[in-house]
Amino acid sequence: MNSFEDFRGQSAHLEQLRNDFAQGQNVHAYLFSGPRGTGKKSVARLCAMTAMCRGEHKPCGVCGPCRRMAAGTHPDLHEIVPEKGKQSISVDVVRGVIEEVGVQSFEGGVKALLCQQAEKMTPQAQNCLLKTLEEAPQGTVFFLITDQPGALLPTIVSRCRTVRFHPLDFEAAKARLMALGETEQNAAVKARMSEGCVGQALEIDAAKMELRRQVTQDVFSVRNAADIMPVLGQYKDDKEKQKQTLDILETALRDMMLAKSAGRTLERGMYAPQAEDYAALVPLSGCIALSAAVLKAKKMCASNVAFASALEMILLKVSEEYARWPW
Ligand SMILES: [Zn+2]
Repeated sequence: MNSFEDFRGQSAHLEQLRNDFAQGQNVHAYLFSGPRGTGKKSVARLCAMTAMCRGEHKPCGVCGPCRRMAAGTHPDLHEIVPEKGKQSISVDVVRGVIEEVGVQSFEGGVKALLCQQAEKMTPQAQNCLLKTLEEAPQGTVFFLITDQPGALLPTIVSRCRTVRFHPLDFEAAKARLMALGETEQNAAVKARMSEGCVGQALEIDAAKMELRRQVTQDVFSVRNAADIMPVLGQYKDDKEKQKQTLDILETALRDMMLAKSAGRTLERGMYAPQAEDYAALVPLSGCIALSAAVLKAKKMCASNVAFASALEMILLKVSEEYARWPW
């Protein structure tokens, strides 16, 4: 189980939350907002654990309620999650969980209701929840968790205390990932790939990292027009790979532009060596031009232009930039 300390740097209010819950001074509804992977759900569980803890230094982690919370088996923790395969949270789901919460606390203490991806609640579901928030049942605390607070009804937001969560800066994210057992090299790559959202970094698997290396190798190997066709052939059919290809290139170019404007070289090992070569040979203007081509390609794909045409346009630009700045 995590501790509040593990999320240092992701929210300015962790200490306050811990104290409020330990002393029973918490409000009854919280809105945790921030990008995916910044610790919102884990911190909500920690708050609930703190409220339910029977130990002295809450959360003690060893008392019965703490252990049941850590194992996810505490009967007074209720969760609203989108149903499998469904894009929204229906009013029936919300009503069902609220009825559950309405009954007496199993352990005689605080009850917690955690709603993940709260933005997925339909307007009816939100209105149903709103009624409950307005007449909050005694001893119940609500956590609404979202990366899109704008999708919630203003009436809901105004009933909650909003706590914002943020990505970590690069060094802090890297250190956290190393503390979680990543090698230094992988921690650095994942910290960059996730832009400091540690939870997202933990989802990055070897296949994703390999695709990133592969894409940057393929694209930045195109030194002249004759190199284009073989690369196009490799990206023909796989729709998911096509989408990721453009995202990977967008990120790679952003990193190149950041490095160049700071007078640095592209960090070793983040992308294929061919990408490092491109960044070393082509000036900032060439990175900007290529970045514009990638954005244009994204727009083309969004309006149903064939991926091959979009990629070809990018590859042509790569070869042109190499030609313009002879190595
Ligand atoms: Zn405890």
